[in-house]
This record gives sequence, C-alpha cells and structure tokens, in this order.
Amino acid sequence: MAEQKSTIAFYGGAGDVTGANFLFTDGPSGLRILVDCGLFQGRKAFDEKNAEPFAYDPKTIDYLFVTHAHLDHIGRIPKLVRDGFRGKIYSTGPTKEIAEISLLDTLNLFKKENEEDEPFFDSSDIRQALSQWDLIDYGETMNLKEGLRVCLHDAGHIIGSTMYEFARGDKRLVFTGDLGNSPSPLLRDTELLTNANYMVMESVYGDRNHEDRSERHDLLEDAIEDTVQAGGTLMIPVFSVERTQEMLFEIENMMEQSRIPLVPVFLDSPMGIEVTAVYKKYSRYLNADVREQIEQEGNSIFRFPQLHMTMTTDESKAILRANPKKIVMAGSGMSTGGRIIHHEKNYLSDPRSTLLLVGYQQVGSLGRQLQDGAKVVRILHEDVPVRAQVRVIHGYSAHKDSDHLLEFVDSTKSTLIKVFVTMGETKSSLFLAQRLRDYLGVKAEVPVEKEVAEIDL
Ligand SMILES: [Zn+2]
Repeated sequence: MAEQKSTIAFYGGAGDVTGANFLFTDGPSGLRILVDCGLFQGRKAFDEKNAEPFAYDPKTIDYLFVTHAHLDHIGRIPKLVRDGFRGKIYSTGPTKEIAEISLLDTLNLFKKENEEDEPFFDSSDIRQALSQWDLIDYGETMNLKEGLRVCLHDAGHIIGSTMYEFARGDKRLVFTGDLGNSPSPLLRDTELLTNANYMVMESVYGDRNHEDRSERHDLLEDAIEDTVQAGGTLMIPVFSVERTQEMLFEIENMMEQSRIPLVPVFLDSPMGIEVTAVYKKYSRYLNADVREQIEQEGNSIFRFPQLHMTMTTDESKAILRANPKKIVMAGSGMSTGGRIIHHEKNYLSDPRSTLLLVGYQQVGSLGRQLQDGAKVVRILHEDVPVRAQVRVIHGYSAHKDSDHLLEFVDSTKSTLIKVFVTMGETKSSLFLAQRLRDYLGVKAEVPVEKEVAEIDL
C-alpha cells in the first residue's frame, strides 16, 4: 500500500496574528495532531469566526499540543471539545493552569458583553477539556506511534511557553508558537535549534525591530520617581499574564535596592493575582537569576511589604480613597475594560499623575487614544480631560523582533528544508519570508488560511 504523505494544514494563524490552529497529519502513522486552538481576536473581543464549525471533524483528531496560554492559542479548545474532540491535550503545567484561569475569564467576559448570544462554549466544556489534559515538560521526549516522537523546547515567550518538535529518524518538524524577546527579566532565553528541517514560525514583528531594550528599566524607574515626587498616582494598565509579573518583579527589586520611594503598590486585578500565584508555584520555569534570588530570599518573589493584592470590588474602590502617592496596576492592558478604567477616570484629570503604557495598544482602544495624545477621553459615559502625563515604554515586548527572528532561524539554516511563516499580519509575514530567503538563503513560504502543505517526515 502506498504510504500517505505527511501534511500541515493551516486552519488559523495564517495571514492573521491570532487564531493559531495547525493540523499536522503524519503519513506513516496516520495520526492527526493539532498544534494550538486559539481564538480569533479582531477589533471586537469576540469575532463571529470563533463560533463557526472547524474545517475538520474534531472527532478525528488524536492529539492537541498547546504552545502557551495566550487566548489566541487556547481560546477555542472548549469548542473543540464541545464539537467532539476526545483525544489527549498536552502542555506544560503553567500553560494548563493559566489556560484554565483565562478560559473561565473569557467565558465571563463573553456573557457580560453578549447578553443575547449563546456563548460558543460553556464551563462544562472547559471542565471536559481539563479532564483530557496531561502535562509534559521541557526536554521530555514522548513516543507517539510508528517511530513518531515529540519533544519540547523552551520558547521564552511567557511562562511555560513551548516549541514542539515532531521527529521521525533524523527528520524534524518544529512548531515555534510565539517566540520570546530574550533576554526577559523573568524567563529563560529561547532555546536555540540547530537541526530543524521544517519550521512553522511566528512573525508578529516580522517587519519591525524593537527600540533599545536597555533603557526600559531606567524609564520605569524615572516614571515612578517623577510621579511620586509630583505627589500623583502612577497607573500601569497591564495584561494578567507575564507583563504583570515582570512589572511586579522590577518594582520589587527597585524597592529592595532603595532606588525608588517606598509607596504602596496595588495589583488591582483578580486574574492578575491568580496568574501571579501560578508564576510563584512554577518558579522553577523562571531564569537562573530569578531562581537564585528566590532561594536567597526564601521564596519572597512577588511579595513585598508595599504590595497589596486587591481581589474584591470593595478593596478596589478603597484604592481611590488612599493617598494619591501610589502605583496601581490593573487590567485590561489596552484599557478596553477592567478595573484600570476606574482609576483612569479618577486620575487622568490630575496633572500630578502619570499613565504608563508598557504594552501594545491596538488602534481603536482607549489606551491607543491616550498614547496618541487625546486631550479628552470618554470613560464610563463621562468626558474626562487628560491632564496627567502619558508615557510609553516599548522595551517590554514579549515577541522577538525581525532581526532576532532572523537570528533564530539562522542557527538552524543549514538543515532547513522549508520555513512556513505564520502568526503575523500578511505584510509582516511576507516581509520576514523575503528576509529569510535573501539573507539566509532559506526556502520560506507564507501559507494562506486553509492551505495544506506536503512535507517529507
Ligand atoms: Zn503569545
């Protein structure tokens, strides 16, 4: 009998930053393996595309491997289960735990924002998914079937983020997931690969380079000092995963070294608090410097006298009554909702206060309006004049920029047969593919959504 060819089908994350969903069909074993099952995220929080049936029958899928716990990589897992997937799900421990927190939060947000529409999954689907979900770890190799094996590498993007390497004999196919902007304050550097034959890689910043990272620390320190000196409040809108913990870690160290005034720091985000507990639990996933610090100080990471974690609404409201000299971190990271907007409503009109943007602000979001210099913004049905300072630090991006993506591929260019450039806007993916061809002489393609590519594995 003629053996089936192995294929990769690009069902999401092709010509799109979000919605990552790749189907690897292994010819020799017949296994059907998904990598990621993410949410499509457009200008609205919930794109209708998420509710559409999958392009394949979920009942026919054997495995789902999850690269990391960002919603654009995990957000449709409960729907996959609801539509009949009963195979095993695999990821690292932190990925599974943050996924649970994040999926429950997503379901609540959907219900709040769409009173008429039925959610495309429910809490029972999340529970079912978790019951099918087992843990694996970096460096582990698992034999699947007919000589096909899978092995994990640290992607350095957020805690637990993984590159999956599927191999048979000496042939290797790698799915990178998102690749971290190493060195990171908390994480280990992205593991370098030297023997990949095929690669499905991300390209969020495929056409751009980041500003100098070396200044990020000083800019943060200045923002805190200047605001406290002026007698104002420093507001930092943050996403719950990674940026929150990076900020906590930086501020904790600055306070311990007496580099900034010892003002109260509020983490005013229930999800941020839950995710921070996962970081603490899985501190062995953090880089050597952080682990050494944890050992010396007796696991005091993300805990210092000035830090207040405010879980309840009452505690959150009390922050507004506290002395204005304080630092408040809250979600959402682009001020599209969450508790940060209450603080913004209160303090944006105060010339002593500062809004510090440390993450990407999407066009149309309140955060973007503020970044672009709006003089008046509308928050909770009220016009708020912006008299506070607005400062931006770009250096904390969690993604590799164009030069570093190129450098990452360079380390394995001699073995590469083909690179599939995905998980970016089309222009960004095309630009990176061109650079890979021109600078490294590597075969690089930008697949379109639903394209199926044959590979020799
Ligand atoms: Zn990500």
